[in-house]
Amino acid sequence: MSDYYEALGVGRDATPEEIKKAFRALARDTHPDANPGDPKSEARFREVAEAYEVLSDPQRKARYDRGEVFGGGDLFSQFGGLDDILQQFFGGGFGGFGGRRNGPRRGPDIAATVTLTLEDAAVGAGREIEFRAPGTCDRCGGHGSEPGHDPITCPTCRGAGSVQVARDSFLGRIMTVASCTQCAGKGRIIEDPCTKCEGGGLVTVDRSLTVEIPGGVEDGMRLRLSGKGGAGERGAPSGDVYVDVTVESDDRYERVGDELHHRVEIGISEAVFGTTVEVPIVDGDAETIDLPAGTQPETVYRLAKKGMPRLKRRGRGDLFVHIGVAVPTDLTEEQEEVLRSYAELRDEQPTAQKRGLFRR
Ligand SMILES: [Zn+2]
Ligand SMILES: [Zn+2]
Repeated sequence: MSDYYEALGVGRDATPEEIKKAFRALARDTHPDANPGDPKSEARFREVAEAYEVLSDPQRKARYDRGEVFGGGDLFSQFGGLDDILQQFFGGGFGGFGGRRNGPRRGPDIAATVTLTLEDAAVGAGREIEFRAPGTCDRCGGHGSEPGHDPITCPTCRGAGSVQVARDSFLGRIMTVASCTQCAGKGRIIEDPCTKCEGGGLVTVDRSLTVEIPGGVEDGMRLRLSGKGGAGERGAPSGDVYVDVTVESDDRYERVGDELHHRVEIGISEAVFGTTVEVPIVDGDAETIDLPAGTQPETVYRLAKKGMPRLKRRGRGDLFVHIGVAVPTDLTEEQEEVLRSYAELRDEQPTAQKRGLFRR
């Protein structure tokens, strides 16, 4: 994905006003209607508009700035955002794009969910998702006519699906493309509709798709698989698949972004004399830490790069191991005796024995 700030040619500290200004100028230069015959201008324009859609929305901008990798995540989740922007800037003076024309409609977006363990989230995982969505009709190949009966070319637009209309705007006189009304923008007229899809060219089918989830994904993130959703009407783009990712919590760790925190409880004598503890590694073999004699409660060890992979940047976070010292509450009579003798030798003043305080 391109850098949104670069796309608009502004710095990372640009004010909303600067972002708006940059977009307005770029949109004017790159709009396809201002660049007739240049097929690249629409792609460039979409890039600029996508950048603006994110950076003009404080919430999305904040998420993007934090480095959320699926910046595309819920971009256009309310599809039509692009047209709304155009509406706002150009008052509908342009023809609009894709779905808003009268021509073939873009395929529907599909929502899916996947659930991963923390370990899967650390190494990345492929998951198959299944859904029902429009697909190309296998009887007519999507053309909408009964096999052997080809659609005829629309006489009004001669198959183009659109007609040119002159329009005056603040950019001067521009030619805008309007949908042909006779064929509803299809360019062809179906005389014998396909019996399976009734001429629509689409049938609902069961689909499955393998989603590759990158290592480091966080709970609640959303992936967007562009163009993998329902098929669009004749030639129109397919919808997208949005995958909401749930990462299950793992009792062994607390996750804070790329960092993992693990807690180990040791006994009093272990803290005094030192011991060796085993630390689970989320995607590898357990490691051991030798704790020295005199280890204090809440000592923290850092195992570098043993946390979660970083999604966008390279490398991975650290694993922090918090050492707790457990104070026993279940002494046997014998253990209590030893501890009270110890207290005497240390000149400590523990509360005198109370019946029933500890399990016997
Ligand atoms: Zn068909
Ligand atoms: Zn036509």
